Amino acid sequence: MARPKSFLPRLEITCAGKAHGCQHNKEKHRFAKGDRRLTVSEGRNPEHFCLDCARQFLQADIKRLQDLLAALGE
Ligand SMILES: [Zn+2]
Repeated sequence: MARPKSFLPRLEITCAGKAHGCQHNKEKHRFAKGDRRLTVSEGRNPEHFCLDCARQFLQADIKRLQDLLAALGE
């Protein structure tokens, strides 16, 4: 049997190797070296999000997936 396919891009918690900004708000959401962040690897440029943005976006995605699943029916 084929392995179930994932529709999600690769998501992982990583640590910032140097100081930089969150992809969503580069000026206001800053990382220091060693801070934890959510890394989304889709295509060749990984994007990094601060933990507040990560929580917000993951919750919105979970809601969307639940709605899609509900729309599929039993
Ligand atoms: Zn952010």
